Parts: sequence; C-alpha cells; structure tokens
Amino acid sequence: MHHKVIFGWVGFFLALSTVNCFGQLSTGWKQHDMKRPLPPIVDPGESLSQAAPPSDAVVLFDGTSLDAWRSGDGGPVKWLLRDGAMEPVDGGGYAYSAQGFADCQLHIEWASPAIPKGKSQNRGNSGVFLQSQFEVQILDSFDNVTYADGQAASIYGQYPPMANVSRKPGQWQSYDILFRAPKYKEDGSLLEPARMTVMHNGVFVQDNVKPLGPTSWMQHHPYSNRTGKIPIGLQDHGNPVRFRNIWVRELPSEKIEQPTEPYDPLVVELNDSQIAGLVGKYKRQGGGSYEVLRKDGKMYFTLGGPLMEMIPHSRLEFGLRYTAGLLEFKLDEAGKAQSLRFEMGGSLSQATRE
Ligand code: MG
Repeated sequence: MHHKVIFGWVGFFLALSTVNCFGQLSTGWKQHDMKRPLPPIVDPGESLSQAAPPSDAVVLFDGTSLDAWRSGDGGPVKWLLRDGAMEPVDGGGYAYSAQGFADCQLHIEWASPAIPKGKSQNRGNSGVFLQSQFEVQILDSFDNVTYADGQAASIYGQYPPMANVSRKPGQWQSYDILFRAPKYKEDGSLLEPARMTVMHNGVFVQDNVKPLGPTSWMQHHPYSNRTGKIPIGLQDHGNPVRFRNIWVRELPSEKIEQPTEPYDPLVVELNDSQIAGLVGKYKRQGGGSYEVLRKDGKMYFTLGGPLMEMIPHSRLEFGLRYTAGLLEFKLDEAGKAQSLRFEMGGSLSQATRE
C-alpha cells in the first residue's frame, strides 16, 4: 500500500476521533484555556429588526406564548413571559422545545441584562443546546473577558467564534445556526460527528465545525449514540437573559435524491460517414448559431462557447455528457443533416444547416 493511502486512512480515522494520536483533543487545546487566542472584536453594525420567520419555519416563540416549551421533567416550562420575551427564573431550570429536531436551521434572538452583573462566565450566561447536547454559548461578551472557548457564540469548551460580534448589554442580538446531527453506525459507534455553522448578529463566526462530542464544563464527553429528533434546550445559568423570535426550519437529509434510471442508457456506435453527415454549422432560428464538431474520435456540440460531448442515443438522437439536453437531427436522402432540434432547460430551438 502506498504511504499516501495509509496516511489517508489514518487521517480519516483521526478525523472521526475526537482525540488525536498524542492523546490530545483534536483542536490541540485543553478546554477553557486562557492562553487560547481570543477572536478579534467586530462591530456588527446597526441592530437588526426582528427577522420574520420563513413560511416553512416552526415558530417556537413569537412573544405571545410559552406553549412550545417544557421544563426538563416534561411539565410546563417554569420560565417567565414578560414584554414579549421569555426568560429563566430563579431555579426554573432549562427550557426545552416540546418538539424535537435533528438537522435544522435555528434563528434565535437574545439580550443579556442591560445592567451587567458579574464577570467572565457569570455575566449574562445562557446557551442554546442543539439536540440538548451541543451548546452555542450565550454570554455577555461585550467588554467581558473569559476563556476563548466559552465566550458568546463559542461551541462551548471546544471552538471559539472567529470574531467577537457582541452588542452592548441589553441590546438584542441574533444567532442563526445551521446544525447537522451526528450519525452513528448500527453498533452505536460514530459514523459522522455533528456539524455547526453559526452567524452572530449577521456575521459568520463558526464555519461547519465538528463538535468533539457533547459540550460540557470541565469535561470531555465522547459521542454517545444519541441522535434523532431531540428538543432544543435553552440554558438557565442563573442570569436573566431574555429571548425572543425563535424559529426552526427542519432540513432535508443530505442524501441527494437520484433518478431511478441512469442517464444515457443506450449508446450506439456511429460510423465515420454517419458522423460526417452531422458535422457542421447550423443557423439558429431567431439568431445565433450551433456547431457540431468531431475531435479525437468524439462528437461535440457547442453554442459558440464550451464544447459539450454528444452521446448518441440513436443515429439521429443525442444526449449531452453532463447536461440534460437533447439533440435531434433531420437528414436528407444522402444522409447529410439538414436541420437540428435542440431541447434544454424547458426551451426548444431549431436550426438549419448553413
Ligand atoms: Mg452557557
């Protein structure tokens, strides 16, 4: 086996493992390391107005009711609804969406207390937990230093955001999160880690990062074979962080739906004189021209730009190698093409030989 291949496979397995060959977390950093560089501070600009949910969104909170939320024991949520916002109360515990979600897009707006109290992790701390396991940290990170992997918009304890886009305390801020759930094999071992992309106040701060496992304070937990539609959790960290305008769009699976039939199923061989009868320029009705060429034993069709390989379906009908176009020729008695018909993308054109 070539070294490249071997290292390729080693890399592949290490990519799936959250601990590298030195026994270190694959980020290279211990959790909560104050030496880890802090991201640059970026002003996100004017505050966004509330984003209206798209038509296929599941609205979890629109400012009028807590019906879509439960407490950890499944009973009514013990949070407060006040002035169109929801917020944790002392000892109220987390809020969990009644509905579970796996792959999803989540929009959420939050505001830390206008009069900041405490520092580091004790100032405006909450969090959004995807699948109840992967926390996008909420923290008042405006003029409040903490460890890089624990500031606002970090994947808590794992990935600092690429920028600190925090607004001032009390101002509304937004997260837009793209979440792909982890996948497991039948034996429960990890097939693919979760993936998370996060925008904070309209700025991308997490780019498709792969959590090392469920997020945790001072702990590293490996993946636990827990996936599927699991509630979204909002953290009660004892700080009155307010929330509004929460909606989720469930995402389709990443598997690309394929047609049931392979394309260009029938390929016929044409002889030299049959091909020669089609080669040439064609004048398109309504302007422009087409050309059929022969090059290195293959036939190509062009609208004047790039060449598209023609795949014969029959003597007169051709598909194109990578484009869903169909060409049909009409021949004279000598076997020479007089005209062609080109169908693609819902439009049809005719051309006559020049
Ligand atoms: Mg938190």
